[in-house]
Parts: sequence; C-alpha cells; structure tokens
Amino acid sequence: MTLKAVPTPPNELAELEAADRAYVLHPSTQLKAHAQGLSGGPQIISGGEGSTLRDAHGNEFLDAFAGLYCVNIGYGRTEVADAIARQAHELAYYHSYAGHSNEPLIELSERLIRMAPPGMSRVYYGLSGSDANETQIKLVWYYNNILGRTSKKKIISRHRAYHGSGIMTGSLTGLPVFHQAFDLPMPQIKHTLTPHYYRRDDSDMSEREFSKHCAAELERMILEEGPDTVAAFIGEPVLGTGGIVPPPEGYWEEIQAVLHRYDVLLIADEVITGFGRLGTTFGCEQYGIEPDLMTLAKGLTSAYAPLSAVMVGERVWRVLEEGADRLGPLGHGWTYSGHPLGTAAALANLDIIERENLVEKARDTGAYLLNGLREALEDSPIVGEVRGAGMLAAVEFARDPAERLPFAPKHKVGVHVYEACRAQGVLARAMPHGDILGFAPPLVLSRGEADRVVDTTRKAVASVTDELASQGALGGA
Ligand code: PLP
Repeated sequence: MTLKAVPTPPNELAELEAADRAYVLHPSTQLKAHAQGLSGGPQIISGGEGSTLRDAHGNEFLDAFAGLYCVNIGYGRTEVADAIARQAHELAYYHSYAGHSNEPLIELSERLIRMAPPGMSRVYYGLSGSDANETQIKLVWYYNNILGRTSKKKIISRHRAYHGSGIMTGSLTGLPVFHQAFDLPMPQIKHTLTPHYYRRDDSDMSEREFSKHCAAELERMILEEGPDTVAAFIGEPVLGTGGIVPPPEGYWEEIQAVLHRYDVLLIADEVITGFGRLGTTFGCEQYGIEPDLMTLAKGLTSAYAPLSAVMVGERVWRVLEEGADRLGPLGHGWTYSGHPLGTAAALANLDIIERENLVEKARDTGAYLLNGLREALEDSPIVGEVRGAGMLAAVEFARDPAERLPFAPKHKVGVHVYEACRAQGVLARAMPHGDILGFAPPLVLSRGEADRVVDTTRKAVASVTDELASQGALGGA
C-alpha cells in the first residue's frame, strides 16, 4: 500500500506549508500570491496508487492528468522503485563520457531503437524534455556545419507549441507567457500556424483544405526566410500544452512534403505522445510521420526517475560520424547523461507497459473517455469543442460555440471549471492558453474511473455555466 494511511498532523503541516512559501520558488506559479499565502498553496502531495493521489491533509484525488502527462503506468508501482533501488545498490552512477557505459544504458538504447519508427540509429540521454530539445538544436546546427551549410540554422516551430522552457527551447515554445519578460524568442526561431481546425480563420475551409493552408504557410515562411537558412521544423504529433489539439486530416503528410522540398529536417517531439499515450507506441506511427530526430521523456520512465532521450536517425547520424575525424570528440554532454538510475527505471517501466498491454488499453479507455465527454457535454451552451486522441482529451469553452467566440479572459472559465472538478476530487488541467480543460490520465485508468471523470466534468461545467449566466456572460451579444 503506497497511499499514506495517516495524514500529516495539522501543526506539522502548517509548518511545512509556511516553509514552502518562505523558501521554494515554484515553476509556473504566481510567485507573489504563493509567497503571501493568497493562492491556496502549497498543495502538498504525499502518496499515490494507480490513478489516485493523496495530499498531506488526507484528501484523495483522481489524477486525470497523470502529473504532467507523465505517469503512464500510474502511481505506486513498487516494481519500478525496486529496479531503481537494485541499480543504486549495484552502481548508482558512472558517467557515459568518452565511451563509458553501463548495462541498463546499453539495454535501454537497443530496446528504444527496436521500438522506434524505422531509421533511428543512436540514442543520446538527458534528464528533461527541455534539455533533450536543446540537444536537438545543437545537433541540427552541428550537422549543417559539418555539411558546410553554415547559414542553414533557423528552426521553425508553431504558435502554441510547447517544447520546453530553456533559452532555445523556451523560444521554440509558442506560448507568450513563456517569452514575456525573458527576452525570448531568440532570433533563430520562427513560428508558423497552429494546426487547430476549430480556430481556423476561414470557416468555409474543409479540414483537408486547412491542412494544405498550414503547409502553404510553412512553405511561404521557408521561401521568405530563404531555404538555405532553414535547418529544421519541430512539432508535437498532437499539440499538447498549447491546448491538446490533434492534427487536422492530412496535416503531417502536407507538412512533410514541404520539408522534403527544401531539405529541412523534421524533429518529432514525442515527449507527451510517446509510450502509448495516443494508443500507439509513438505518435509518428499513428500519423505517418518519418522523423529525422525524435525527442522522448515523460512516459519513458513514467516519471519515476528523470530521463529524456534524443533519438538520432540514420541520415543525421551518418553526417555526425563523418564529421568526427575533423572535429574530434562531440563537444556536448552532461554529467548525468545516461544515468543508471534513470535507465533502470525506464526498463522496468517499459516492462510494465508491455506486460499490461497499456498501449491498447490507452486506445480503448481513451476512446471511451472521449466519447463519454462528448455525450455529456453535447448540449452545453459553453462548450465549443471536445477533442482528443488516445488518452489525451480537451474541452474548449466558448461564449458562443456556433460562432466560435471565446470568453473574455477575465471570466477565467477554464480555471473555474478546473477548480469545480478539483472540489469534487478530480484533477484535470486548466491549459495555459485559452479556456481549455485538459485530460491526460494514467494509461491504467479504469472505465469506472473514466465515468467519474466524465460525470465530474459534466457537473463542473453545469455549475460554471450557471455562474456565467448569472453574470450575463453567455451568448454572442
Ligand atoms: N516537449 C513537450 C512536447 C512537452 O510537453 C514538454 C513538457 O511538458 C517538454 C518538451 C519539456 O519537458 P520538460 O518539462 O521535461 O523539460
């Protein structure tokens, strides 16, 4: 039993909460409100099992977001904890510089190459999705320098993309809150259209036409920048933090045709979509994406240990190999690249995903959840779109769904629906852009738990609708 049976005593808890406010700088948090105790935080989480979390007060929550889309196998899997412990007893650490290696690192690399889409050749490890994408950019630049294409360096990302929050990866991210007051994006990064059909400008366009339009815009940008300056395009197979948006029909086919035309590499950021979340092992498989490079993290270890991976395809690998005689050892690496505790956790996690058929389960439960949400919300006057793929789903709110008119930000509709779900013990996520409620449950979610997510969401949406109606905030007026 992993869930802690006894809540932390109230006086101890008050001290812990005060210490958190006094000493911790939290990511993605309103710093002042938190420090002054005005945000209701910290929420101290103390245990978990399956899809259920318990906080230090003893409250239980159904975690319909798997942490941050990462705990694919659910909480409290002692098998993974034991694998980490065994590895720590045997060899807690040695580096992988200058050809040093360790057994779980080798075993995992071979396994990932076997699992990946065809053409992947080598794996480099980091600790987070952000650092892995930072590596991707450096490899793309290195590749073009070896080829003598020294001006081919720009990377095209998309508005509303999320690829991390480092200096370059925060630049790849296409959400204003990750740029503002950080002097980002850096000039080498450009952003093209978000492939969100519901939010298209021209309501007469078919989905396929919209995909062609996105590809035409990408081509226009490449030509405007100059094809000899554009090195790579990066995309999440299903756009994640920007609103959980599956691609419109034919999108990846159209985009890849443009990239081939101008010799632009494709980086598939599978940080969320990898390891079963979409009901396929990788998103690339589902959408016919043939990447040159792939980024993995989150579901790779189900977040039991920090680990990310950069998968390098044959085309890029061959050039890196060729450049080695001239450039010497690769001038890139981190102390913890290929850390044995992370790679041991990944192997145990992949064993569970395979043994329990979690990829198929995600496909089945995901379809059940999406269908449930669609049925429960079809008559709602504030729901514009319910969308999803596998175990990813989103509800987008609109003041006038037929006209696709958004609410004014002051109403904070997404946040209020999230809070109303939370008050009933279900954790979804108010996505950072627009009024969108996101779901990304552990892949082990049962149908009964999916029913609870749907029922809770239905009630939460109804109560927020009443609130908005009483404020006169509904409709097109
Ligand atoms: N790429 C994608 C698609 C992500 O969703 C995320 C995080 O949510 C990242 C990269 C960055 O990963 P990390 O937060 O581990 O740095």
